[in-house]
Amino acid sequence: MIETIRQLLNKKGNQVWAISPDATVYQALELMADKDIGAVLVMEGDKLVGIFSERDYARRCILRNRKSKETLVKDLMTTNVVTIEPSATIDDAMELMTRYRIRHLPVVENGKVVGVISIGDVVKAVIENQEHLISHLEGYITGDHGVTT
Ligand code: AMP
Repeated sequence: MIETIRQLLNKKGNQVWAISPDATVYQALELMADKDIGAVLVMEGDKLVGIFSERDYARRCILRNRKSKETLVKDLMTTNVVTIEPSATIDDAMELMTRYRIRHLPVVENGKVVGVISIGDVVKAVIENQEHLISHLEGYITGDHGVTT
């Protein structure tokens, strides 16, 4: 069972894709396309200064007739970043994502970014947990407790 964000990261990995606030929006989009991700962290060295997602591009760039090659990430990013700690649970992550209507959460431990989880990672963990529980219950019903491990 995956219960904590730390367990999820151990499975998923600690890869963090980040970009400088002075990069252009176009460069951020290139990074997102290249890595097949929906948001990038905006970092100045080790410091998390914002987050930029596809939604920011759609709403703050295209809809406002801004040119992605002439607009900087720092002008469109969200600076008030909601983060989560590794000791938090999958339920905590779902609660934050639902409450703030966000699909990405940087994982921060002692002030340092140690990973990122997306809503896709959370859904995957929940499904895996349900499958685990079902197989546990099936084993319980049939008396074959060996399948629970
Ligand atoms: P998303 O659902 O992740 O595509 O993001 C939707 C909006 O919320 C965008 O404006 C993002 O910049 C912003 N956003 C995404 N993740 C976070 C986060 N962890 N903290 C604060 N804002 C976020």
